[in-house]
Amino acid sequence: MALRVEQDIFLVRQRGREVAAAVGLEHQDQVRVATALSEVARDLLRTAGGADVTFTLVANADDGRRHLRIDLAPVGALPADRYEPQSGAVARLMDKLDTVTGEGDTVVRMSRRVPANAPALPPERLAELRAQLGASAPGSALDELTAQNQQLIAALDEVRSQRDELAVLNEELAETNRGVMALYNQLTEELEETNRGVVALYAELDEKSAQLRAASESKSRFLANVSHELRAPVTAIIGLGRLLADSASDPLTVEQVRQVGLIRSSAADLLALVNELLDLAKAESGRIEPDWAEVDLRSVFGQLRGTLRALATRPGVELVVEEPPAPAVLRTDEVLLARVLRNLLHNGLKFTEQGEVRLAAERHDDRWRLTVSDTGPGIAPEQHERIFEEFYQVPGKTRVGGTGLGLPYARRLAMLLGGSVLLVSEPGRGASFTVSLPVDGA
Ligand code: ADP
Repeated sequence: MALRVEQDIFLVRQRGREVAAAVGLEHQDQVRVATALSEVARDLLRTAGGADVTFTLVANADDGRRHLRIDLAPVGALPADRYEPQSGAVARLMDKLDTVTGEGDTVVRMSRRVPANAPALPPERLAELRAQLGASAPGSALDELTAQNQQLIAALDEVRSQRDELAVLNEELAETNRGVMALYNQLTEELEETNRGVVALYAELDEKSAQLRAASESKSRFLANVSHELRAPVTAIIGLGRLLADSASDPLTVEQVRQVGLIRSSAADLLALVNELLDLAKAESGRIEPDWAEVDLRSVFGQLRGTLRALATRPGVELVVEEPPAPAVLRTDEVLLARVLRNLLHNGLKFTEQGEVRLAAERHDDRWRLTVSDTGPGIAPEQHERIFEEFYQVPGKTRVGGTGLGLPYARRLAMLLGGSVLLVSEPGRGASFTVSLPVDGA
């Protein structure tokens, strides 16, 4: 089509709409194409004195779809070879609106995508359409104005109904928002409530453990003080008893000798108890500082072998202290370690009537396992933890002498050395206490 005078703008616009409808664009799109086309046509008539307009149906564009393409070749030169639409909104009506320069000619090109569901247009149908469009007489400017008015009314209607829909959507959105906010507030409140509960619980827990610590400290202090105070009078009783029984003193009757002997042995028992209590209280109050050094297990075992031989007096019981595998060194406190092992060996010898009491050492990765095992009466599983409690003694024949303080003391000391004491035992199958210690100290 030739665009040369004002009147042509209407014709181009009308044709544009008809072609858009013919290739399958939807109603709204037809109006868009027609409007954009008439705007561009008006611009070009003013700036370039008119244009030649070509409609093309591009079958397979860059995006693989059909496009309606409209080229407007200006009659005169475009200023600076560029075309800028007067109204910025025009470009938005189309998918593309550019100036294209090829073989010296500059063309204003605009295109709009044909919807995928538009009917196919085989060549014969295209030819038919072309013939139809060619034959249809162009209407007057008034006709086009009427059509344009109707389109405007339809567009306004569309805008109004969209605005109504938007209002409904907005209302729904606000409603949902209110719901979400309410839920959020509720959750926040619940969370705060839970938090307050947890905080209170922790405060209570802290308070309870402080009380517990204080109680345990005052118990240790009490034990330490009492046993310390008792030591002097008990030692005095022992000394006086020895004096009384001394042959240099006035002679005693047989009965008096027997009674003094009882006093002396009771006092000796009491002193042993007091000493053990003092040891345990010291260990618990953390007042024992291990004296860390490289210790050779073979020398510790050697000493124990020597000192405990005197205690292994039962004819049917053998004390076996194995030789530790070399190199048998670890970082620990030699005196405390010897005390732990002596305690365990002492128990073994005390309770075993037949068989043996054995001390053995084994290295496992970065720990030493020192095991004292015996062939004594053994200990029922339900007593395994209780015998580590202060003053606890298993009821029955193993309640001979003793104080019930040896094992808790041994475990305390082992912990100070970074280790632990574990028991494996069953009634009738002996007992085996294992002291596990880190090779490089705590
Ligand atoms: P004590 O030996 O002074 O009674 P301990 O704390 O050393 O106190 O031991 C607590 C109790 O554990 C003992 O009274 C005894 O009943 C039991 N027990 C300890 N060692 C053995 C063992 N080797 N075999 C059997 N029972 C044991």
